[in-house]
Amino acid sequence: MNKVSRLLTGILLISLLIFSAGCSAGSLFAPKPYKETQFLMDTIIEITAYGPGSEAGTKAAFAEFKRINELTNRFDETSQVSKVNQAAGKEKVQVDPDVIAMLKLARSRSEQLDGAFDVTIGALTELWGIGHKEDFVPSDAEIQARLPLVNFRLLEIDDQANTVFLPKAGMRIDLGAVGKGYANRKAVEALKAHGVKSALVNAGGDVRIIGKRPDGQPWRLGVQDPRNSEGIAAKLSLSDWDVLETSGDYQRFFIKDGVRYSHILDPRTGYQPREVASITIVANSENHVDILSTAMLVLGVEKGRELLRQYPGTEAIFITTDGKKVITSGLEGKIEL
Ligand code: ADP
Ligand code: MG
Repeated sequence: MNKVSRLLTGILLISLLIFSAGCSAGSLFAPKPYKETQFLMDTIIEITAYGPGSEAGTKAAFAEFKRINELTNRFDETSQVSKVNQAAGKEKVQVDPDVIAMLKLARSRSEQLDGAFDVTIGALTELWGIGHKEDFVPSDAEIQARLPLVNFRLLEIDDQANTVFLPKAGMRIDLGAVGKGYANRKAVEALKAHGVKSALVNAGGDVRIIGKRPDGQPWRLGVQDPRNSEGIAAKLSLSDWDVLETSGDYQRFFIKDGVRYSHILDPRTGYQPREVASITIVANSENHVDILSTAMLVLGVEKGRELLRQYPGTEAIFITTDGKKVITSGLEGKIEL
Protein backbone atom coordinates (compact mmCIF):
# COMPACT_ATOMS: atom_id res chain seq x y z
CA MET A 1 0.00 0.00 0.00
CA ASN A 2 1.39 3.43 -0.76
CA LYS A 3 1.74 6.13 1.84
CA VAL A 4 -1.40 8.08 1.01
CA SER A 5 -3.71 5.09 0.90
CA ARG A 6 -2.25 3.85 4.17
CA LEU A 7 -2.97 7.21 5.78
CA LEU A 8 -6.44 7.28 4.25
CA THR A 9 -7.40 3.87 5.59
CA GLY A 10 -6.56 4.72 9.18
CA ILE A 11 -8.38 7.96 9.13
CA LEU A 12 -11.47 6.82 7.28
CA LEU A 13 -11.92 4.12 9.86
CA ILE A 14 -11.71 6.69 12.55
CA SER A 15 -14.29 8.86 10.82
CA LEU A 16 -16.64 5.91 10.38
CA LEU A 17 -16.61 5.46 14.10
CA ILE A 18 -17.07 9.11 14.77
CA PHE A 19 -20.30 9.16 12.83
CA SER A 20 -21.69 5.72 13.53
CA ALA A 21 -22.58 6.88 17.03
CA GLY A 22 -24.97 9.44 15.56
CA CYS A 23 -27.47 7.17 13.83
CA SER A 24 -30.19 7.58 16.42
CA ALA A 25 -33.96 7.77 15.88
CA GLY A 26 -34.09 11.50 15.22
CA SER A 27 -31.42 11.36 12.55
CA LEU A 28 -33.90 12.44 9.84
CA PHE A 29 -33.83 15.86 11.42
CA ALA A 30 -30.19 15.78 12.48
CA PRO A 31 -28.31 18.82 11.20
CA LYS A 32 -25.98 18.14 8.29
CA PRO A 33 -22.32 18.79 8.94
CA TYR A 34 -20.10 20.91 6.78
CA LYS A 35 -17.22 18.56 5.95
CA GLU A 36 -13.98 19.18 4.12
CA THR A 37 -10.81 17.11 3.64
CA GLN A 38 -7.43 18.29 2.38
CA PHE A 39 -3.99 16.70 2.08
CA LEU A 40 -1.66 19.10 3.90
CA MET A 41 1.35 18.78 6.22
CA ASP A 42 2.05 15.35 4.77
CA THR A 43 -1.24 14.01 6.11
CA ILE A 44 -4.99 14.04 5.61
CA ILE A 45 -6.78 16.77 7.46
CA GLU A 46 -10.50 16.43 7.94
CA ILE A 47 -12.80 19.05 9.44
CA THR A 48 -16.41 18.36 10.38
CA ALA A 49 -18.34 21.35 11.68
CA TYR A 50 -21.99 21.96 12.50
CA GLY A 51 -24.19 25.04 12.65
CA PRO A 52 -23.83 28.69 11.69
CA GLY A 53 -20.37 29.74 10.59
CA SER A 54 -19.25 26.19 9.87
CA GLU A 55 -18.34 26.66 6.20
CA ALA A 56 -16.55 30.00 6.68
CA GLY A 57 -14.95 28.71 9.89
CA THR A 58 -13.68 25.58 8.13
CA LYS A 59 -12.19 27.65 5.28
CA ALA A 60 -10.43 29.87 7.85
CA ALA A 61 -9.22 26.78 9.73
CA PHE A 62 -7.72 25.27 6.55
CA ALA A 63 -6.05 28.61 5.82
CA GLU A 64 -4.26 28.26 9.17
CA PHE A 65 -3.07 24.71 8.34
CA LYS A 66 -1.84 26.00 4.99
CA ARG A 67 -0.05 28.98 6.54
CA ILE A 68 1.69 26.93 9.25
CA ASN A 69 2.63 24.31 6.65
CA GLU A 70 4.22 26.95 4.43
CA LEU A 71 6.29 28.21 7.36
CA THR A 72 7.42 24.82 8.64
CA ASN A 73 7.68 22.46 5.63
CA ARG A 74 11.28 21.31 5.59
CA PHE A 75 10.83 19.67 2.18
CA ASP A 76 10.08 23.05 0.62
CA GLU A 77 13.35 24.92 0.30
CA THR A 78 11.60 28.30 0.42
CA SER A 79 9.93 27.70 3.82
CA GLN A 80 11.21 29.61 6.84
CA VAL A 81 12.38 26.41 8.52
CA SER A 82 14.40 25.55 5.39
CA LYS A 83 15.91 29.06 5.41
CA VAL A 84 17.02 28.56 9.03
CA ASN A 85 18.46 25.15 8.13
CA GLN A 86 20.29 26.50 5.06
CA ALA A 87 21.87 29.21 7.25
CA ALA A 88 23.11 26.73 9.90
CA GLY A 89 26.63 27.61 11.02
CA LYS A 90 26.47 30.87 9.06
CA GLU A 91 23.88 33.37 10.19
CA LYS A 92 20.67 33.97 12.08
CA VAL A 93 17.41 34.19 10.17
CA GLN A 94 14.37 36.31 10.87
CA VAL A 95 11.16 34.28 11.06
CA ASP A 96 7.44 34.63 11.70
CA PRO A 97 6.37 34.92 15.38
CA ASP A 98 4.51 31.60 14.98
CA VAL A 99 7.80 29.86 14.13
CA ILE A 100 9.35 31.40 17.24
CA ALA A 101 6.36 30.20 19.30
CA MET A 102 6.66 26.65 17.93
CA LEU A 103 10.40 26.52 18.54
CA LYS A 104 10.04 27.81 22.09
CA LEU A 105 7.31 25.27 22.81
CA ALA A 106 9.44 22.51 21.32
CA ARG A 107 12.52 23.58 23.25
CA SER A 108 10.72 23.69 26.57
CA ARG A 109 9.28 20.22 25.87
CA SER A 110 12.76 18.97 24.95
CA GLU A 111 13.93 20.15 28.38
CA GLN A 112 11.08 18.36 30.20
CA LEU A 113 11.31 15.11 28.27
CA ASP A 114 14.62 13.71 29.27
CA GLY A 115 16.19 13.93 25.83
CA ALA A 116 13.42 11.84 24.22
CA PHE A 117 12.25 14.80 22.19
CA ASP A 118 14.57 17.13 20.28
CA VAL A 119 13.41 19.74 17.79
CA THR A 120 16.90 19.77 16.22
CA ILE A 121 16.55 16.10 15.21
CA GLY A 122 16.50 17.19 11.53
CA ALA A 123 20.05 15.99 10.75
CA LEU A 124 18.95 12.46 11.68
CA THR A 125 15.48 12.50 10.10
CA GLU A 126 17.05 13.81 6.90
CA LEU A 127 19.60 10.97 6.90
CA TRP A 128 16.94 8.27 7.37
CA GLY A 129 14.46 10.03 5.07
CA ILE A 130 11.58 7.77 6.19
CA GLY A 131 8.68 8.19 3.79
CA HIS A 132 10.79 10.42 1.56
CA LYS A 133 13.64 8.18 0.36
CA GLU A 134 13.54 4.61 -0.85
CA ASP A 135 13.84 2.14 2.04
CA PHE A 136 17.23 3.16 3.34
CA VAL A 137 19.06 2.07 6.48
CA PRO A 138 22.07 4.30 7.15
CA SER A 139 25.33 2.83 8.38
CA ASP A 140 26.12 3.15 12.07
CA ALA A 141 29.03 5.45 11.20
CA GLU A 142 26.68 7.79 9.34
CA ILE A 143 24.35 7.88 12.33
CA GLN A 144 27.15 8.52 14.81
CA ALA A 145 28.42 11.38 12.63
CA ARG A 146 25.01 13.09 12.80
CA LEU A 147 24.40 12.71 16.55
CA PRO A 148 26.49 15.77 17.57
CA LEU A 149 24.30 17.88 15.28
CA VAL A 150 21.21 17.04 17.34
CA ASN A 151 21.15 19.25 20.43
CA PHE A 152 18.30 21.61 21.25
CA ARG A 153 20.49 23.35 23.86
CA LEU A 154 22.51 24.89 21.03
CA LEU A 155 19.45 26.43 19.38
CA GLU A 156 19.54 30.23 19.65
CA ILE A 157 16.15 31.94 19.68
CA ASP A 158 15.76 35.70 20.01
CA ASP A 159 12.09 36.34 20.67
CA GLN A 160 12.54 40.12 20.64
CA ALA A 161 14.09 40.28 17.18
CA ASN A 162 12.28 37.08 16.04
CA THR A 163 15.49 35.44 14.86
CA VAL A 164 16.75 31.86 14.99
CA PHE A 165 20.30 30.59 14.67
CA LEU A 166 21.68 27.07 14.39
CA PRO A 167 25.33 27.46 15.40
CA LYS A 168 26.76 24.31 13.74
CA ALA A 169 26.82 23.69 10.00
CA GLY A 170 24.65 20.66 9.24
CA MET A 171 22.23 21.26 12.14
CA ARG A 172 18.58 20.98 11.11
CA ILE A 173 15.31 21.99 12.74
CA ASP A 174 12.45 19.51 12.31
CA LEU A 175 8.98 20.73 13.30
CA GLY A 176 7.36 17.51 12.04
CA ALA A 177 6.00 16.66 15.48
CA VAL A 178 5.05 20.24 16.37
CA GLY A 179 3.41 21.84 13.35
CA LYS A 180 0.22 19.77 13.10
CA GLY A 181 -0.79 20.23 16.73
CA TYR A 182 0.10 23.91 16.67
CA ALA A 183 -1.85 24.46 13.44
CA ASN A 184 -4.74 22.43 14.83
CA ARG A 185 -4.93 24.74 17.83
CA LYS A 186 -5.01 27.74 15.47
CA ALA A 187 -7.65 26.01 13.35
CA VAL A 188 -9.89 25.52 16.38
CA GLU A 189 -9.45 29.21 17.28
CA ALA A 190 -10.52 30.11 13.72
CA LEU A 191 -13.63 27.90 13.93
CA LYS A 192 -14.56 29.41 17.29
CA ALA A 193 -14.03 32.93 15.95
CA HIS A 194 -16.69 32.12 13.33
CA GLY A 195 -19.12 31.10 16.06
CA VAL A 196 -18.81 27.33 15.59
CA LYS A 197 -19.96 25.45 18.71
CA SER A 198 -19.67 21.86 17.46
CA ALA A 199 -16.74 20.59 15.40
CA LEU A 200 -14.05 17.98 15.08
CA VAL A 201 -10.67 18.55 13.44
CA ASN A 202 -8.61 15.45 12.69
CA ALA A 203 -5.11 16.15 11.43
CA GLY A 204 -3.78 12.65 10.89
CA GLY A 205 -4.43 11.44 14.41
CA ASP A 206 -4.02 14.83 16.05
CA VAL A 207 -7.64 15.50 16.97
CA ARG A 208 -9.26 18.52 18.57
CA ILE A 209 -12.95 19.01 19.22
CA ILE A 210 -15.27 21.91 19.96
CA GLY A 211 -18.28 21.11 22.15
CA LYS A 212 -20.43 18.01 21.71
CA ARG A 213 -22.03 16.54 18.61
CA PRO A 214 -25.24 18.35 17.64
CA ASP A 215 -27.37 15.56 19.17
CA GLY A 216 -25.74 16.29 22.52
CA GLN A 217 -23.67 13.10 22.47
CA PRO A 218 -19.91 13.21 22.98
CA TRP A 219 -17.67 12.62 19.97
CA ARG A 220 -16.59 9.00 19.78
CA LEU A 221 -13.27 7.93 18.36
CA GLY A 222 -11.53 4.73 17.46
CA VAL A 223 -7.84 4.09 18.01
CA GLN A 224 -6.41 2.15 15.11
CA ASP A 225 -4.82 -1.22 15.71
CA PRO A 226 -1.17 -0.50 14.86
CA ARG A 227 -0.73 -3.91 13.21
CA ASN A 228 -4.04 -4.11 11.31
CA SER A 229 -5.08 -1.08 9.30
CA GLU A 230 -8.68 -2.28 9.34
CA GLY A 231 -8.85 -3.04 13.05
CA ILE A 232 -9.79 -0.84 15.96
CA ALA A 233 -7.79 -1.42 19.13
CA ALA A 234 -9.85 0.81 21.42
CA LYS A 235 -12.87 3.08 21.41
CA LEU A 236 -13.50 6.03 23.63
CA SER A 237 -15.77 9.05 23.96
CA LEU A 238 -14.29 12.49 24.23
CA SER A 239 -16.59 13.48 27.07
CA ASP A 240 -13.92 14.64 29.50
CA TRP A 241 -11.26 15.67 27.02
CA ASP A 242 -11.01 17.86 23.95
CA VAL A 243 -7.63 16.85 22.57
CA LEU A 244 -6.52 13.43 21.37
CA GLU A 245 -3.05 12.92 20.00
CA THR A 246 -1.64 9.73 18.51
CA SER A 247 1.87 8.79 17.47
CA GLY A 248 2.73 5.41 16.06
CA ASP A 249 5.16 3.35 14.04
CA TYR A 250 2.52 2.23 11.50
CA GLN A 251 1.85 5.15 9.20
CA ARG A 252 5.29 6.17 8.02
CA PHE A 253 7.62 3.20 7.96
CA PHE A 254 9.21 0.48 5.90
CA ILE A 255 10.18 -3.10 6.72
CA LYS A 256 13.55 -4.46 5.65
CA ASP A 257 14.83 -7.93 6.53
CA GLY A 258 11.94 -8.29 8.93
CA VAL A 259 12.77 -5.11 10.84
CA ARG A 260 10.36 -2.17 11.00
CA TYR A 261 11.89 1.27 10.55
CA SER A 262 9.50 4.13 11.39
CA HIS A 263 9.68 7.92 11.36
CA ILE A 264 10.11 8.49 15.10
CA LEU A 265 13.71 8.32 16.27
CA ASP A 266 15.41 8.36 19.64
CA PRO A 267 17.54 11.54 19.48
CA ARG A 268 20.04 9.99 21.88
CA THR A 269 20.82 6.96 19.72
CA GLY A 270 19.69 7.92 16.22
CA TYR A 271 17.64 4.71 15.93
CA GLN A 272 13.94 3.82 16.18
CA PRO A 273 12.52 3.03 19.61
CA ARG A 274 11.05 -0.51 19.63
CA GLU A 275 8.86 -0.97 22.70
CA VAL A 276 5.71 0.98 21.79
CA ALA A 277 3.82 0.69 18.49
CA SER A 278 1.23 3.34 19.22
CA ILE A 279 0.45 5.83 21.92
CA THR A 280 -2.71 7.88 22.22
CA ILE A 281 -3.01 10.72 24.71
CA VAL A 282 -6.23 12.46 25.70
CA ALA A 283 -6.27 15.74 27.54
CA ASN A 284 -7.90 19.09 27.92
CA SER A 285 -6.45 21.75 25.70
CA GLU A 286 -5.50 23.89 28.68
CA ASN A 287 -3.03 21.16 29.68
CA HIS A 288 -1.11 21.87 26.46
CA VAL A 289 -0.05 18.31 25.89
CA ASP A 290 1.27 19.02 22.38
CA ILE A 291 4.22 16.89 21.33
CA LEU A 292 3.96 14.49 24.28
CA SER A 293 2.89 11.50 22.18
CA THR A 294 6.08 11.59 20.08
CA ALA A 295 8.22 11.56 23.23
CA MET A 296 6.11 8.80 24.85
CA LEU A 297 6.84 6.52 21.91
CA VAL A 298 10.55 7.06 22.55
CA LEU A 299 10.33 6.76 26.34
CA GLY A 300 8.29 3.56 26.45
CA VAL A 301 5.49 2.55 28.82
CA GLU A 302 7.08 2.91 32.26
CA LYS A 303 8.98 6.15 31.78
CA GLY A 304 6.16 7.54 29.66
CA ARG A 305 3.54 6.89 32.34
CA GLU A 306 5.77 8.40 35.00
CA LEU A 307 6.23 11.53 32.94
CA LEU A 308 2.52 11.88 32.20
CA ARG A 309 1.84 12.29 35.91
CA GLN A 310 3.32 15.78 35.56
CA TYR A 311 0.32 16.67 33.38
CA PRO A 312 -2.74 16.14 35.62
CA GLY A 313 -5.93 15.19 33.79
CA THR A 314 -3.97 13.67 30.92
CA GLU A 315 -4.51 9.97 30.15
CA ALA A 316 -2.94 7.55 27.71
CA ILE A 317 -3.29 4.24 25.92
CA PHE A 318 -0.04 2.51 25.03
CA ILE A 319 -0.06 -0.40 22.58
CA THR A 320 3.24 -2.21 22.66
CA THR A 321 4.95 -3.83 19.68
CA ASP A 322 4.13 -7.23 21.21
CA GLY A 323 0.43 -6.36 21.30
CA LYS A 324 -0.15 -5.40 24.95
CA LYS A 325 -2.53 -2.52 25.72
CA VAL A 326 -1.70 -0.45 28.78
CA ILE A 327 -3.98 2.36 29.96
CA THR A 328 -3.49 4.98 32.64
CA SER A 329 -5.81 4.83 35.69
CA GLY A 330 -8.12 7.68 34.61
CA LEU A 331 -9.22 5.66 31.57
CA GLU A 332 -10.49 2.70 33.62
CA GLY A 333 -14.16 2.20 32.69
CA LYS A 334 -14.02 4.93 30.08
CA ILE A 335 -12.51 3.00 27.23
CA GLU A 336 -13.58 -0.06 25.28
CA LEU A 337 -10.62 -2.32 24.58
P1 ADP B 1 2.93 12.02 13.11
O1 ADP B 1 3.65 12.91 12.16
O2 ADP B 1 2.68 10.65 12.59
O3 ADP B 1 1.77 12.67 13.79
P2 ADP B 1 4.46 12.72 15.34
O4 ADP B 1 3.53 13.82 15.62
O5 ADP B 1 4.88 11.89 16.49
O6 ADP B 1 3.92 11.73 14.28
O7 ADP B 1 5.73 13.38 14.65
C1 ADP B 1 6.73 12.61 14.06
C2 ADP B 1 7.69 13.52 13.33
O8 ADP B 1 8.46 14.25 14.28
C3 ADP B 1 8.69 12.78 12.47
O9 ADP B 1 8.23 12.63 11.16
C4 ADP B 1 9.91 13.67 12.53
O10 ADP B 1 9.76 14.72 11.59
C5 ADP B 1 9.84 14.25 13.92
N1 ADP B 1 10.53 13.46 14.96
C6 ADP B 1 10.83 12.13 14.95
N2 ADP B 1 11.40 11.76 16.12
C7 ADP B 1 11.46 12.87 16.89
C8 ADP B 1 11.97 13.14 18.19
N3 ADP B 1 12.46 12.18 18.97
N4 ADP B 1 11.93 14.42 18.65
C9 ADP B 1 11.41 15.41 17.86
N5 ADP B 1 10.89 15.22 16.64
C10 ADP B 1 10.91 13.97 16.14
MG1 MG C 1 1.59 14.11 15.72
